[in-house]
Amino acid sequence: MPELPEVETIIADLRPHLVGRTILHCELRFPSIVRHPEPEAFIDAITGQQIEAVGRRGKFILIALGAGRLLVVHLGMSGQLRLVDPSTEIASHTHAILDLDDGHQLRYRDPRRFGRLLLGTEDELLISGTLPKLGPEPIDPTFDADELFKRLRRRRAPLKAVLLDQTTLAGVGNIYADESLYRAKLRPDRAAGGLSRKSVRRLHESLRESIELAIRNRGSSVDTYRDAWGETGNQQETLLVYGRAGQPCFTCGRPLSIIHIAGRTTVFCRRCQR
Ligand SMILES: [Zn+2]
Repeated sequence: MPELPEVETIIADLRPHLVGRTILHCELRFPSIVRHPEPEAFIDAITGQQIEAVGRRGKFILIALGAGRLLVVHLGMSGQLRLVDPSTEIASHTHAILDLDDGHQLRYRDPRRFGRLLLGTEDELLISGTLPKLGPEPIDPTFDADELFKRLRRRRAPLKAVLLDQTTLAGVGNIYADESLYRAKLRPDRAAGGLSRKSVRRLHESLRESIELAIRNRGSSVDTYRDAWGETGNQQETLLVYGRAGQPCFTCGRPLSIIHIAGRTTVFCRRCQR
């Protein structure tokens, strides 16, 4: 699943090509990929709109159109947003095609269909329940360890489950939760609320480190993630624990353990993480 670093890579690549462009036409080949408003209203509202900005909140891509309205793209498990020449063959599972006024097409493809497209003002989308009230960005300079401590305090759920909760912290998924917890030497199954301030400071730093490193490496292509040009990222080659169950820990050499937390496969070192 694309997480914060993967989405950040996509928007940074798309931004210079999208800002200032006008959407001339929208074709929905699988209309229910649009969750708000109704697909026909979505097409009407998006056609003829100029793109003012391209941003991100958590794992959501925010394409700003006029009058405070946003085209929101959530890639779900397997979504891919690509900018292509119209002559490019249309890949299977392409659900939406936007024609831009410079002759390019922005295409949304999603084999597993857990992703979604939304259109509306932020308030409208929050009220409709299609956009969750997201927690702070882990790499926002104003998000400090004290704020993370406040957000973890009194939470009895396992630490990893709390990190995955997008209303607590936006953008962290399975990969960077496991990576950050390993860097912070914290067990993923301990109660979030039991962490000392010192441990939270370590976790705060580890979150930032693992996410910023992944952004520099253009994200992790562990599953179907591809960037806006259809290329893979590089971070999967340097992950410390994610996808390495049974392989030796890079710190102590013992085989990494695997457990399930919040329904997600979790890899960690029983010796190094406490
Ligand atoms: Zn170890």
